Amino acid sequence: MAAIGFKTAKCKDCYKCVRICPVKAIHTKDEHALYVADECVLCGRCLEACPQDAIISISDIQKAKAFIQEGCKTVISLDPAYLGVFGDTENGTGQLREALYQLGFSHIRETAEGAVHVTKAYERLIKAGEMNNIITTSCAAINDLVERYYPEMIPYMAPVVSPMIAHGMMLKEEFGPDVKVVYIGSCTAKGREALRDRCRGEFIDAVIDFQELRKWLKEAGIDPAQCEPRQRRGKNPLINGLYGVSGGILSSVEADKGFGKYEQLYVDGIDSVKELFTCIANGEINNCFIEVASCVGGCINGPLAGGQESDRFKARIYTNQKIIREFPQDMDKMKESIILRKDFRQSAQAVAIPTEEEIQEALRKDGKDSIEKQLNCGACGFKTCRDKAIALCQHKEQLNLCIPYMYQQARSTAEVILSVTPNLIFTVDEQLRIQEFNNAAEVMFNISADKAHGMFLGNIIDPGDFASVFRDKRSIMNKKVSYEKYGMITMQNIIYIREQNCALGILRNITSEEKIRRQHDRMRMEAMDIAQKVIDKQMMVAQEIAGLLGETTAETKVTLTKMRDSIFYEGDDNL
Ligand code: SF4
Ligand code: SF4
Ligand code: SF4
Repeated sequence: MAAIGFKTAKCKDCYKCVRICPVKAIHTKDEHALYVADECVLCGRCLEACPQDAIISISDIQKAKAFIQEGCKTVISLDPAYLGVFGDTENGTGQLREALYQLGFSHIRETAEGAVHVTKAYERLIKAGEMNNIITTSCAAINDLVERYYPEMIPYMAPVVSPMIAHGMMLKEEFGPDVKVVYIGSCTAKGREALRDRCRGEFIDAVIDFQELRKWLKEAGIDPAQCEPRQRRGKNPLINGLYGVSGGILSSVEADKGFGKYEQLYVDGIDSVKELFTCIANGEINNCFIEVASCVGGCINGPLAGGQESDRFKARIYTNQKIIREFPQDMDKMKESIILRKDFRQSAQAVAIPTEEEIQEALRKDGKDSIEKQLNCGACGFKTCRDKAIALCQHKEQLNLCIPYMYQQARSTAEVILSVTPNLIFTVDEQLRIQEFNNAAEVMFNISADKAHGMFLGNIIDPGDFASVFRDKRSIMNKKVSYEKYGMITMQNIIYIREQNCALGILRNITSEEKIRRQHDRMRMEAMDIAQKVIDKQMMVAQEIAGLLGETTAETKVTLTKMRDSIFYEGDDNL
């Protein structure tokens, strides 16, 4: 049955869903959003809010298609919100009915037929006058909210099933237990309602939503606007068709028997409903017949209604145009075998309420150890820092998911780095006006950060490189630049920051390194000079030695030659 799915791989951890969830059923764990189904009331707000489509609705569309393919008798229970959601169909309801028949459904009926009998059940409660306040709703998310989070409201809840369940019971009675009932609406919570233990899927066999229905019709090549209008089979529920719009229950009761001793009130939007519950718990509201809904405007604005934002307003106009503001007097009596009573039961998970010491400790750990630091800005999704601390104690939240705190932390870390670094760091805007100016820059240029802020960079240094960074939108890295006025040589990086259209200058003062390098160069030159002289001298000595060696060799050669010749010719003299 329809519920919510969470695609972790698609999630970018922006925490929008964490902030928006009215019951904090999406936790933060290890810096990731974590959906906890047991705590979710299926209001669908996260589904609409997630910019990454990481939260999806899981529905029974395949099941509904299978019923048709298998040849089951399949009856549609069409939520009254369709009057507004499909209101742009020229001939309205009749054309959509025909389109649904073309998809293969056996009968198209309206959930508002069930609403007629639900209205009658409310009227009996009004007549009995035994309840202090009577809270009525056809909203499954609100029913879940009461049972999980506001069990103290159970005595005020009208013990009546929703029109969907009432209609499911009626259709099973009319067509027999084997008929398949498919409910179509705009809600994320109806699937769970159909399946809950008290219904066990007995009355509703599948739940699909308007968004999917539109897709299905498109795939099947059926355009409701081109269909011939088809007559309604069941009886017209008239004003009960307003159940899809906020105030619709009140209008239906008023059109029939009225409110007796009760005042009337309708409250829509889950945050407002939570406030209402607090007021009732405080005894501030009494003898009131109250209609509540999770979605602002009612089911016509349900999370799965589909369409554009502006369609939400049009939906109300379309509904009002089509509704006949009379209570049907010709409806069949409800069979006695059909029991519309619903008993609410507490199903809230027992979440430990932390002690005051634990709350204070969580506040301290979250950097909120004084009242001044508790900004109660609501940016984290909790109304107050204390509420956030309670969630921390309940392990629903992680530390540091506090925007002002994170900003402050990041800011102070950056400030520490900027203040202790020996590098000169400053940023300039496109007009080359100084925006940031760190301590090292203050010292080198002998100007305070306050004075430097907004000053033209050219008043301090040659801004040529910065200007070309803006012109070319390209950083200049590792360029050696000498600033004689300040007796400084720098290795500078000028980084273009596209997102902020500014340039960040990081000037590393390499004056001392340069001095040492030059000294080394000088020493090297001197050493080379000395070495050259030694070489030259050695060459001279070598040449002299070679000369002497040459002379001696020649003399030796002459002497030895003479000796040989004298020995050789010695015999000839004897001849
Ligand atoms: S809103 Fe979507 S992307 Fe952002 S944390 Fe929630 S699931 Fe993830
Ligand atoms: S459906 Fe509603 S209650 Fe459930 S997680 Fe989303 S925002 Fe929270
Ligand atoms: S100051 Fe932080 S913890 Fe307090 S409400 Fe704002 S974001 Fe939440």
